Amino acid sequence: MQVVRERKKSSLRLVKPIEAMIEKRSKSLIDSEKYYKQVEHYADQIRGACDTDEIIGILDAVLSETRGLEFSDEVCAAQEQVKLAERKIETMKNELKQLRTLVQIDQMTGAFNRRGLDEIFSREAARADRNAKSLCTVLIDIDDFKQINDSFGHQYGDHVLIKLVSVAKDMLRPSDIVARFGGEEFVILLPDIEMDEAIRVIHRLQKNLAENRSLLVNNESIPVTFSAGVAIRSFGEHQNSVINRADGALYQAKRDGKNQAVPAAL
Ligand code: GH3
Ligand code: MG
Ligand code: MG
Repeated sequence: MQVVRERKKSSLRLVKPIEAMIEKRSKSLIDSEKYYKQVEHYADQIRGACDTDEIIGILDAVLSETRGLEFSDEVCAAQEQVKLAERKIETMKNELKQLRTLVQIDQMTGAFNRRGLDEIFSREAARADRNAKSLCTVLIDIDDFKQINDSFGHQYGDHVLIKLVSVAKDMLRPSDIVARFGGEEFVILLPDIEMDEAIRVIHRLQKNLAENRSLLVNNESIPVTFSAGVAIRSFGEHQNSVINRADGALYQAKRDGKNQAVPAAL
């Protein structure tokens, strides 16, 4: 009688941990077949993905899911390989992020290119609408740039483009955006700013560029000027529409004698 009671006691002690383990495992236990099926599913998604952002999102999902899983013994044996795969995925993710940045940047000037501008414009426009803030869009075109190239060489022309971007980046706020729209045309986005202030900012940029000492040739100052059209985006206004308005004002600035900033009509 005594012995039986003892046995019962010990079996009772054993039952609880096993039950707990079974219960715990059945929640998230995954075997290799299921795991590889999931991996294959993600691989299909990556094959069908259209852009780097989408792929980065999928890789994030793979990583967080893999880390949250409890593996069966069989898969546990391959834990080292899983860890290695995780590291490879992390590396791939970082490389994709770098690539995404690279494809959005104009190599020569370091400004955003058209692709970068498109993405940033939609992000900034959405933010402006959400917070009921303005988004000022400035279209800039260097004056007589063909003449600058013809007189001082194409390489000097390149140098002017690079300087314009670096002077602008040094002067503007970190939240402002400089993008090369094409050739010697640039778009500057100034979030949360009204027309008067925007015109003042552009005048300051014109002055800083004209005074930039690295644009001297044989110690002589070369007058590098630009014209600008300045448009304040209205609520919900599309990128093409606001850039068209800025372009109209830029055209006016050229007609009025260049080297000036003109506000765009609404
Ligand atoms: P405007 O004052 O009316 O704007 O006249 P502009 O001479 O600036 O305008 P135009 O459009 O006639 O000339 C632009 C020139 O910019 C022509 C093109 O060769 C030059 N250009 C475009 N991209 C580059 C570049 O990357 N580097 C250099 N050096 N020149 C470029
Ligand atoms: Mg031009
Ligand atoms: Mg020009």
